[in-house]
Amino acid sequence: MTTKRERSSSLFQRAQKTIPGGVNSPVRAFRSVGGEPVFMKKASGTYLYDVDGNRYIDYIASWGPMILGHAYAPVVEAIQEYAAYSTSFGTPTELEIDMAELICSMVPNVDLIRMVSSGTEACMSALRLARGYTGKNKLIKFEGNYHGHADAFLVKAGSGLATLNIQTVPGVTAGAAMDTLTCAYNDIAAVKKIVAAHKGDVAAIIVEPVAGNMGCILPAPGFLESLREICTEEGIVLIFDEVMTGFRLAAGGAQEYLKVNADLVTYGKVIGAGMPVGAFGGRREIMEHIAPLGNVYQAGTLSGNPIAMIAGYTLLKELKAKPSIYESLAAKTAYLKTGLEKAIADWQEPFVINQVGSMISVHFSKEPVVDFATASAANNGRFSRFFHSMLDRGIYLPPSAFESWFLNDAISYEDLDETIRKCGECG
Ligand SMILES: *Cc1c(COP(=O)(O)O)cnc(C)c1O
Repeated sequence: MTTKRERSSSLFQRAQKTIPGGVNSPVRAFRSVGGEPVFMKKASGTYLYDVDGNRYIDYIASWGPMILGHAYAPVVEAIQEYAAYSTSFGTPTELEIDMAELICSMVPNVDLIRMVSSGTEACMSALRLARGYTGKNKLIKFEGNYHGHADAFLVKAGSGLATLNIQTVPGVTAGAAMDTLTCAYNDIAAVKKIVAAHKGDVAAIIVEPVAGNMGCILPAPGFLESLREICTEEGIVLIFDEVMTGFRLAAGGAQEYLKVNADLVTYGKVIGAGMPVGAFGGRREIMEHIAPLGNVYQAGTLSGNPIAMIAGYTLLKELKAKPSIYESLAAKTAYLKTGLEKAIADWQEPFVINQVGSMISVHFSKEPVVDFATASAANNGRFSRFFHSMLDRGIYLPPSAFESWFLNDAISYEDLDETIRKCGECG
């Protein structure tokens, strides 16, 4: 059974003539799973429609943002209304205050927030701020975590780098890489060792509070709490990269869901409702070092763009007003997990399903998947076959075992049953 995707195929041929690899972000290419990317034309609720007219149940949600489904009417209407007022002013607008106030009211520990245009920018700026604030140089990050593509983060990174098996990135200078120290995720003993070896020179520890860029991996009990303690004791800035988990695990993100406080937090994905938006924020005392209050320079011509703001604001307001969305999403995802576990159990193959809230992923692994080493040791060739079998049956999963799936609340139990039934056919 193969779905016809002739128009997609011809668009891919055409795309490769003017766009590197035919894609504007490597995670969209099907490099690790093989085959050709599918070109979408439109989407509505939980369904994607490709240029050949095939329908898919969507499990990537644009890699997170479309938490209430695609073409969500209040967001679309707000964008249409505000677009008529001008798409950018280059001056402050009231919308930016509304957005900042809303975010500060939703998430813990954020006194001041600065809007940017991507998760990469948010993480890059938070790191500069942590260095400027502490006067220290080193950064500790975790193997398989992804914090965007700024130089400092492209060391043992997850997501597309893990998918494409890129260990070191040409173009990142040895000097930049030298200031980034790495540990295995969930390995607190390793963190303590590195902090001791570089005593007094660690500016920041950055972590995905739930990892989503090596599949979905949960923090071990006590892991984040221990990071918090170490950072407080050593005067290190703890940065939670909540680009994925922010407004997804709970209205207050991982800080609220896991009850651990960070010093700085970065956001992206859900915060822009599908528009290019990121943000970083945190304690007033640290954030006051950002220009124009302080000398840590950070800027953006289109930061706080009015169309992006009204889109994000409209979505976040819905999420704040209806906390039951998170219960509904978690219940649907748990239902999917139970169903997939039953379906895959028949295949007589080892597998692990990790899930928290509306994040879930399947690894074909004998061992529990707790860090990058165990995620890499899984049978990712088996994942590729699974991916294509599902795609041909109209189920759109992320095209890599190193990516979390994201549920959107527009998905129905009928959609989940259809997914589970089709999974049963893929053994
Ligand atoms: C996606 C992601 C980023 C990068 O965000 P972009 O908007 O793609 O630049 C950073 N951190 C995490 C945890 C992410 O999942």
